[in-house]
Amino acid sequence: MSVPVRKFDAVIVGAGGAGLRAAIQLSEAGLRTAVISKVFPTRSHTVAAQGGVAASLGNSEEDHWHWHMYDTVKGSDWLGDQDAIEFMCRKANEVVIELEHYGMPFDRLDSGKIYQRPFGGHMSNFGEKPVRRSCAAADRTGHAMLHAMYQRNVKANTQFFIEWMALDLIRDEEGDVVGVTAMEMETGEVFVFHAKAVLFATGGAGRIYYSSTNAFINTGDGVGMAARAGIPLEDMEFWQFHPTGVAGAGVLITEGVRGEGGILRNASGERFMERYAPNAKDLASRDVVSRAMVTEINEGRGCGPNKDHVMLDITHLDPATIMKRLPGIREIGIQFAGVDAIKEPLPVVPTCHYQMGGIPTNYNGEVVVPKDGNPSVPVKGFYAAGECACASVHGANRLGTNSLLDLLVFGKSSGESMVEFIKSQPAAHKPLPANAADFSLSRINRLDNQKDGAAVGATRLAMQRTMQAHCGVFRFKDMLAEGVSKILDIEQQVATTEIKDKSKVFNTARLEALELDNLIEVAKATIVSANARTESRGAHVRDDATDTPERPDGRDDVNWLKHTLWHREGNRLDYKPVNMKPLTVDTIALKKRAY
Ligand SMILES: Cc1cc2nc3c(=O)[nH]c(=O)nc-3n(C[C@H](O)[C@H](O)[C@H](O)COP(=O)(O)OP(=O)(O)OC[C@H]3O[C@@H](n4cnc5c(N)ncnc54)[C@H](O)[C@@H]3O)c2cc1C
Repeated sequence: MSVPVRKFDAVIVGAGGAGLRAAIQLSEAGLRTAVISKVFPTRSHTVAAQGGVAASLGNSEEDHWHWHMYDTVKGSDWLGDQDAIEFMCRKANEVVIELEHYGMPFDRLDSGKIYQRPFGGHMSNFGEKPVRRSCAAADRTGHAMLHAMYQRNVKANTQFFIEWMALDLIRDEEGDVVGVTAMEMETGEVFVFHAKAVLFATGGAGRIYYSSTNAFINTGDGVGMAARAGIPLEDMEFWQFHPTGVAGAGVLITEGVRGEGGILRNASGERFMERYAPNAKDLASRDVVSRAMVTEINEGRGCGPNKDHVMLDITHLDPATIMKRLPGIREIGIQFAGVDAIKEPLPVVPTCHYQMGGIPTNYNGEVVVPKDGNPSVPVKGFYAAGECACASVHGANRLGTNSLLDLLVFGKSSGESMVEFIKSQPAAHKPLPANAADFSLSRINRLDNQKDGAAVGATRLAMQRTMQAHCGVFRFKDMLAEGVSKILDIEQQVATTEIKDKSKVFNTARLEALELDNLIEVAKATIVSANARTESRGAHVRDDATDTPERPDGRDDVNWLKHTLWHREGNRLDYKPVNMKPLTVDTIALKKRAY
């Protein structure tokens, strides 16, 4: 069956921070650029980012990109690639100033410079004491950022396809990427987008978990599409649980609250972080704080009738500061917890927040795969940036405010790489394969004809509960193994989901079924990779990896200082080395990670 074809120089899937930043680069270079998004660009999850974007501007105290690099390597528990980390930290000031020039309304110091606040794991002088590095627009940084970049794109004539869902990646016989298929939600019709280069900027997949700070649209579509097209996924066992989701609701309370002086307390009012991280205390790295909270709860020191959460206290702060720096947080407290943070502490609990792994790329945003003995060979025409990509700058644990920075730096660098690649290509597009849309059409066909299948909502819920119970903040050997077999069973159900409503116009049931195909790929990659990694590192902490005298914290650099690559085919795993060699400075040598 033939489907309509739309032709562009570049197609970007995703209109969050990464997609919009890349699009600016392409459109301003005069290339015909399409951006496809499930939602209006400024509703992408980047809009929810509260705390800030990291850059060593040093506006209120001394700072240096090298210190930022050190913190990021340490935060990653040495799993991050040091070339990519140096690249990101060195570029930070440039991309933040650029954003300011796009019209980003940052908060200001009295001097007129951008306001910066402290954030977990960001320290001065190679780990000495917390430093003010996170550039903020109140507690609505992502919101301000998306609006500034959307407007810049409108000015540059980027063409937006809003409320369109990309379905599958199109690769030709040589394996080069030549486009995507996408469904227009309004009509349910499938189109082919034919392009010289494709960028995935589809964001995270936090919806594989039951309790998540992520938006409902964060279903890992880019990661799922890449996996189905034969691209392996990197380091998917590493998921960040944010320490402060509103208990019971999951809505995020930014770490910026602790940056402004907020304190975590247990049932007896004790500031327990002093015991776990004597130096950084409440501003230790996220995985450290999350585990401390879960330990307090597990040992009976949790708050509330069920002792199932702890308290985040800002009642000692000046109400005027709260109203100026954290107005959105006060509002969230009132709406979702029934608590006015000016007067009472907020109930909080660790909640799934961020995927450190994803589609493997280098720091130029090119998607790389193992080929002929080389672990990282670029796939022609294919790029990825933002949360769906693994550059890998976050390694086993991301520092707060380094993601918005990742979007800017790698959105820009992937855009630059695409411009260069497209301009080096012949004027005519590489031809589409004859069957370009067949795979997507067959997925839709199956849904239209499925009888006696599983319900989408119930199947998704089973997956989310399994992931939460078997692959959460702490991981247990037996639970992981059991979780793998449960997820593989659920995969069988996903293959036979049935929708009752077969209509075409704005059929959200069909979209959710198609999203579930992506979620299950992410869940499989996560739990299979986690089950195999028998050490503890960053956000991945196992009960059976803590006790040997040689590795008291469970990290095993001899056997596990390497990136996981999960292949969809047969759930096969292989590994590739971590790049320990920065671009210009010395390697940041392995060390025990303590705060
Ligand atoms: C509540 C919250 C607060 C956060 N706060 C901070 C912070 O203060 N600082 C920080 O550094 N990080 C923060 N993070 C993390 C950071 O915001 C995200 O990692 C980042 O915004 C992701 O950006 P992105 O461009 O990769 O994707 P997103 O902003 O999630 O955008 C994804 C885009 O892809 C589109 N899309 C997805 N699938 C498809 C498809 N199949 N077809 C078409 N379009 C598709 C969506 O429509 C959307 O436009 C926060 C995250 C959350 C959840």
